[in-house]
Amino acid sequence: MTHSGRSTGSTADSRPVRTCVGCRKRADQSHLVRVVAQEIDGNFAVVIDEHRRLSGRGAWLHPDPACMETAIKRKAFNRAFRRAVETKFLPSPFRAPPEASDGALGNIPSLP
Ligand SMILES: [Zn+2]
Repeated sequence: MTHSGRSTGSTADSRPVRTCVGCRKRADQSHLVRVVAQEIDGNFAVVIDEHRRLSGRGAWLHPDPACMETAIKRKAFNRAFRRAVETKFLPSPFRAPPEASDGALGNIPSLP
């Protein structure tokens, strides 16, 4: 047993992990965006579920244009939703999540 420092509950292991339909890598759910198939004018279209509250079958994707492109090319959305879905309502390019820019601040002047 190794007790190094504090252990205030292990949330790291219980975080939901999903597979990106683009690159097929598994990632923490908070690092992926949820997409759902919504019926629009009789056709099903893939839309981003920004608030993760839309009902229905969801798929998960990195907020990365490459992953979306791969998913579209492979028709991964059709597989994920088990029907033919339109992808024209997906935004391009994808927005990066705000927390992704963490640590990218390079030029902060530090005065003595
Ligand atoms: Zn991906």
